[in-house]
Amino acid sequence: MSTFKLTPQLMRAIIMDHYENPRCRKTPEDLENYRKINMNSSGCVDDIWVYLKVENEIVEEVYWEGEACAISTASTSIMCEMMQGKNIDDALYIIDEYKKMIDEQDYNESVLGEALVFMNTSKQPARIKCATLGWDGLLDLLKELEEDE
Ligand code: ZN
Repeated sequence: MSTFKLTPQLMRAIIMDHYENPRCRKTPEDLENYRKINMNSSGCVDDIWVYLKVENEIVEEVYWEGEACAISTASTSIMCEMMQGKNIDDALYIIDEYKKMIDEQDYNESVLGEALVFMNTSKQPARIKCATLGWDGLLDLLKELEEDE
């Protein structure tokens, strides 16, 4: 990611790609093996489910489904794609860095990959919830998992 410049045009193209071809967008068939959480936003159409399957401390699968605007679709799609195969500690670290970026704090950009396209979201406060909805859903599921153990 650091080898090329993330221009506004490229950021927009990545967001549009994930909006038009969302990754990991489905309800898993073996739903009983997943933790799930509903996330919605009063200020937007967003109303999604996030599904998580963890095995041996590894995020095996993250899926999502539901109604979502362009920003929440793209941010949730990017999040799900990034998280596949990560161990729980890494997943929590990446979520933390992403939220720091959204909050305009110092963050480690080397772990955020395509999620860097949301680096300017803090300048559009109305979009912050859209850009973090799926991420917060996964965070809640991971916390729930830790509390159960
Ligand atoms: Zn939205």
